[in-house]
Amino acid sequence: MAERTTQFRTCPLCEATCGLEVTMEGDSVVRIRGDREDVFSHGFICPKGSTLRQLQDDPDRLRAPLVKRDGQHVEVSWDEAFAEVEQLLMPVLEEWGRESAAIYLGNPNVHNHALTIYGRALITAMGSRNVYSASTVDQMPRHVSSGFLYGGPLSIPVPDLDRTDYLLMLGANPLESNGSLCTAPDFPGRLRSIQDRGGKFVVVDPRRTRSAKAADEHLVIRPGGDAAWLAALANVLFAEGLVELGAAEPNLDGVDDVRNLVGPFTAEAVEAATWIAPEVTRRIARELADAPSAAVYGRIGSNTVEFGTLTSWLADVVTILTGNLDRPGGLMWPTPAHQKPLKREPGKGFRIGRRSTRVSGHPEVNGEFPVAALAEEIDQPGEGRIRALFTIAGNPERSCPDSRRLSAALESLDVMISIDPYLNETTRHADVILPPPPALSRSHYDLAFYGLSVRNIANYSSALITAEGPLEEDIIARLALIAGGAGADADPQIIHGMVLDTVLQAAVRGDGPLSGRHPAELESQLVDGSPADRVLEAMLRSGWAGDQFGAEPEGLTLDKLRANPHGIDLGALTPRLPQILSTESGRVELAAEPVAEDVARLQDSLDRPPGGPVLVGRRHLRSNNSWMHNVEVLVKGKERCTLQVHPDDAADWGLGDGGSAQISSAVGSLVAPVEITDEIARSVVSLPHGWGHDADGARMSVASRRPGVNSNVLTDASAIDPLSGNAILNGIPVSVSPA
Ligand code: SF4
Repeated sequence: MAERTTQFRTCPLCEATCGLEVTMEGDSVVRIRGDREDVFSHGFICPKGSTLRQLQDDPDRLRAPLVKRDGQHVEVSWDEAFAEVEQLLMPVLEEWGRESAAIYLGNPNVHNHALTIYGRALITAMGSRNVYSASTVDQMPRHVSSGFLYGGPLSIPVPDLDRTDYLLMLGANPLESNGSLCTAPDFPGRLRSIQDRGGKFVVVDPRRTRSAKAADEHLVIRPGGDAAWLAALANVLFAEGLVELGAAEPNLDGVDDVRNLVGPFTAEAVEAATWIAPEVTRRIARELADAPSAAVYGRIGSNTVEFGTLTSWLADVVTILTGNLDRPGGLMWPTPAHQKPLKREPGKGFRIGRRSTRVSGHPEVNGEFPVAALAEEIDQPGEGRIRALFTIAGNPERSCPDSRRLSAALESLDVMISIDPYLNETTRHADVILPPPPALSRSHYDLAFYGLSVRNIANYSSALITAEGPLEEDIIARLALIAGGAGADADPQIIHGMVLDTVLQAAVRGDGPLSGRHPAELESQLVDGSPADRVLEAMLRSGWAGDQFGAEPEGLTLDKLRANPHGIDLGALTPRLPQILSTESGRVELAAEPVAEDVARLQDSLDRPPGGPVLVGRRHLRSNNSWMHNVEVLVKGKERCTLQVHPDDAADWGLGDGGSAQISSAVGSLVAPVEITDEIARSVVSLPHGWGHDADGARMSVASRRPGVNSNVLTDASAIDPLSGNAILNGIPVSVSPA
């Protein structure tokens, strides 16, 4: 019998970064539970965390590459798969040029340090500017608002959850999602702690979500009304003399411009657009101003709307006007261990629109194009049409707008190559599918999420089970070599060397602690590990907490993290103004021109007559976008992909609980089971996203038995937030009738 061991690792499934205790017998997982000694999560996990074993053992998970032969996917060796990629891809690039290629990066890319580090290598080798990602069906407005306010799209301040006295949450449901753009394991417990220490948290949402039920107060808002309501809060703060800028004041530009911009948004003026009574708006503004500390936090429901960027901007504006930027209990910036010490000097600022999409002329944002434009960039003829597509860890056919059109577009590609563990709704169109190692077979470090964390944490997890095939970095390196023209047999070490050298060269540049040292000397100090881990080690050792390759012996190394499997707590967040700013002015630019100009569009919307019903999405604790519906233990029980309808609407529309409704939008129509509930506002209906697992050619046996319906059949790809390019997934006009 194999020896029983206990291992510790961070759950890679969502942004909460919970510690897991994994009991193993040899290469088999016996049990997974929360790691009580984890420095950040202290034993908390959600139902998904213990399913890494099921994901590992899932018979539908691909263990070998697939290539499409005569319309059927068949298993081949890795060398055959890469040869097929070369054979299919290169003639397309040679005939149609580099801009005929595109890449789509799904959400799990940022949960995986190898993909985070190596994705750029493939994009560079591809030589095309056609980059798309799940960011434009999710959080791109947050990047854009942070870019304009603070100079950097990744300079996102997070609510200082553990010290705040007042949290105002819009479009966020962390009791189901476990938090997003605010990494905080046991988000529910941290919210309870606000209440336990005499504070308050308020949820603003058209649905009475689990988070709303736990809140001190729930305000029902009209879908899409968040920006107008936040503008009204700012208006009240100015009108009642409640603006108090606090310690951030010397770093702020544009306060008077904001006063003018929000002038028309009185509490009365926004009532129809928000459904929130003026006296409530005024009271909340006063409470925010009076609280010892406060933060406004908006998430996906307030980002994936018509005014997503303005909502995100105004959430920060209200926090700033109440003196809560960059102070304990307010919005603060984490300092991830791998980040280099920052100096105060004006940056380059933030721009959008350095190029545009070919068909609709949508501006580039943060180096990518709106994924809502992907289908038309494939299916519309003309020079520059996309003919070759890479997808990495993404299921755009379920995650992105107007799925039926996108499905046809994907099928029409000359070549499609996917890195994915499943033959799913998207990868069924692929000519070659390359399966990555499952979570327990790769090391893990949350490079992205420690930059969004409510404490500064460093926690590294080793791989627990030997991978059946190559690591992600090897797969991407070989694809990059093929796309770059070096061929399928080229040595991936070429790419590994280049990626590592880029990090080491950056480390010795400038006048930092490693200035004057030679990259080769630093490289010689790296411990043995996977190529991505060696790059990670270089980043950590040259970061602010690092050992500076021996110069600071007490500093962080990968060995030190390996010796601390429960993680290392680097402390509470600390003020970072003004060094965090990289705007051209070196100050917080509260009224950057593109944002200020968009306020007129928001003002115009106040006069719109009330329309018919609108569709919003929702999250469930046991679901994670589209890719975990093949885990039996997570999908069993009551049907969760239902259309939620208010009882009065159901009566008006002739719908019965458990019956079927036809929902139609400007672009599509579907039939879904009806769930009548008073937890949703009138004239609002809700479907969760990520379902619809009944596509021909997909191979997900559990998911296909409970397919649900695909809400993105209803989302309109032509409707986007103009500043961020983000798709509008909430507040979609629909009609509803008995099916
Ligand atoms: S909350 Fe997120 S990180 Fe924690 S166990 Fe659940 S899925 Fe994993």
